[in-house]
Amino acid sequence: MKIPWIFHKDYDIPLPKNHRFSSSKFGDLYTLLIDSYLAKSAEVFIPNPAKDTQLTKVHTREYINKIKNGNLSTKEEKILGLPWSETLVKRSYLAVNGTYLASKLALVNGIACHLAGGTHHAHANHGSGFCVFNDLAYAAKNIISDGKCKKVLIIDCDVHQGDGTAEICKNDNNIYTCSIHASNNFPSIKVESDLDIGLDDMISDEDYLRIIQSALTTCSNKIKPDLVLYDAGVDVHKNDKLGRLNISSKCMLKRDLEVLKFFKSKNIPITTVIGGGYSSNNIELAQRHALIFHAADQIFNAKK
Ligand SMILES: [Zn+2]
Repeated sequence: MKIPWIFHKDYDIPLPKNHRFSSSKFGDLYTLLIDSYLAKSAEVFIPNPAKDTQLTKVHTREYINKIKNGNLSTKEEKILGLPWSETLVKRSYLAVNGTYLASKLALVNGIACHLAGGTHHAHANHGSGFCVFNDLAYAAKNIISDGKCKKVLIIDCDVHQGDGTAEICKNDNNIYTCSIHASNNFPSIKVESDLDIGLDDMISDEDYLRIIQSALTTCSNKIKPDLVLYDAGVDVHKNDKLGRLNISSKCMLKRDLEVLKFFKSKNIPITTVIGGGYSSNNIELAQRHALIFHAADQIFNAKK
């Protein structure tokens, strides 16, 4: 089978030199993947921009207009952490729909992998921590309201807590949110998810994997989802600039394999998004983000 990869060439945005967010992160990952053996068993899909009627299921009309028209205050732009530009608007409209397209494809194929996504700090009425619109909440809400799914589980393994997703989905009984993050990291004020697991800075690979396993069991006891959205953030890595944890690449691959194996064995489709990852070495960063694509290939394309 071919694993759907979702990507758009306009995901990257121009940023000032030395900005903590890489201005070529998405293109670097695409280049690495498309030149690898994984591409033989993958098919690339290109998302369309989101419609405002889809965005209002997640964000306030006022906030959407501020983004569209470039009317963020200096303070709002500072909290967002990215300079406003036409390119940023375009990317933000495309990327949320990328996760939604991936989710529709996952329902058909069992798996689909977005080469972006995981913008979990975006709240209903403001952006935060490099996140303009919340793709996880957007995909979950829209796929349910379009009648393609009844229940969605969001598992967020980015090192930062999924505060925006928790806030947007808090009163939605059809969406279960789980965040496994570093307690001492951003955001300083956490928003309560359905399940939050705060990790100590010095957690070992073994303890981390044990916690992931137990979180998977807890989640599947709480909700029987038709779809899982998995944020495979790589900012848990020991060399991540913003991470604080000490997790190895080998352990991150094991984590991704465990998550995919767990839901595949239950026949529950899974959408993966890349989540956070920060390094001044663009190649290393792309290699870390590529791990989830290796995991998907191993679990879904393994020779029988
Ligand atoms: Zn993060």
